Amino acid sequence: MKKSEITNSRLCPVYKKCGGCQLQNMSYPEQLRFKQNKVNRYLKPFGKPLPIIGMDDPYHYRNKVQAAFYTNPQGRIISGVYQSGSHRVVGIDSCQIEDETADKVIVAVRKLMRSFKMTTFNEDTGRGFLRHVLVKRGFATNQVMLVLVTAKPMFPSKNNFVKAIRAQFPEITTIVQNINPYQTNLVLGDKQQVLYGKGYIEDVLCGCRFRISPKSFYQINPVQTEVLYGKAIEYAGLKGNETVLDAYCGIGTIGIIAAKHGAGRVIGVELNGDAVRDAISNAKANSLQNIRFYKGDAGDFMRAVASEDEGCDVVMMDPPRAGSSKVFLDSLIQMDPKTVVYVSCNPETLARDLKYLTDNSRYRVRKIQPVDMFPHTNHIETVVLLSQ
Ligand code: SAH
Repeated sequence: MKKSEITNSRLCPVYKKCGGCQLQNMSYPEQLRFKQNKVNRYLKPFGKPLPIIGMDDPYHYRNKVQAAFYTNPQGRIISGVYQSGSHRVVGIDSCQIEDETADKVIVAVRKLMRSFKMTTFNEDTGRGFLRHVLVKRGFATNQVMLVLVTAKPMFPSKNNFVKAIRAQFPEITTIVQNINPYQTNLVLGDKQQVLYGKGYIEDVLCGCRFRISPKSFYQINPVQTEVLYGKAIEYAGLKGNETVLDAYCGIGTIGIIAAKHGAGRVIGVELNGDAVRDAISNAKANSLQNIRFYKGDAGDFMRAVASEDEGCDVVMMDPPRAGSSKVFLDSLIQMDPKTVVYVSCNPETLARDLKYLTDNSRYRVRKIQPVDMFPHTNHIETVVLLSQ
């Protein structure tokens, strides 16, 4: 390896303090090699992983940006991220992995605060107004959502504030005030009011439209999500009329894309009720009638479906970092689908679940494809094809 390859010429000035980009000390090709080696190490027993798919331009890929606000002892307002492991705000005006428009909106909000006499919330005293600013952008639609998280509902001269920020950023299509009066580490509170627009934005992924509200989960790197889901759909090998089960479906992205790409019937299951509600409205927005979403534990749901002898041709699963459960995997084996597509954000639990599946059934791993969804961080996403 050349020496120039191990150092990143664009090393961020707050790399250590922020802690968000653990691999910034490596060049991008070196990061990809590091991730490839890790996947190879964990998944070697199941076959040779394909070369990791990296990004052509691994910068400014995050479509969701949030900033904390703080007034320093000199009276200057600072916006940025919490120093890792603490509640001290590190000032950041632009970040190499965040969307550039989102960063500019946050700086503009900060600059407007003085003239609108807006104060920052102080966690120690419980006084002050603005806690966080959250910005989401639909990369395909260029719709921008601005969320102002405030400690109190009263927002003096909010209409003028909305006018002032929109004058600078015509791409802002909606502005929401979220009220978070609690002593909590969570950014968003329960109540919110729409100050401008519809209260949500939309984005397009693999030809399907998705609605994104302040609280809904949405993949944060849409460019690589298309690559990842493209592989997942390719591995599903849909010819038309298959029944597909989308387990751990979140807002229904994988299932909705499968339905658009030929699945005859799609069933989605997800634990989070808000996400299920979003999934149902996303299916409607894409005019899909052949898709149903259920709220519940994926393992319990699988067990119920398997015991009812309801067949299913393809199971697509995308569990959280902890991986899947024995109940889920046992029911999967009992259900006996032709194809299983496992999307994983943690190679360690992926290896554990693949071992269980291959030890206890005739399923074999056919393909292992890592995709770099989060350049400069140590997260690794992998999609695996299993069949009998
Ligand atoms: N496939 C989705 C989201 C995957 S993230 C997408 O790409 O948008 C993993 C999801 O699993 C989260 O939405 C989480 O709420 C859900 N989840 C976690 N534990 C679960 C369980 N036991 N049963 C069902 N869903 C679960």
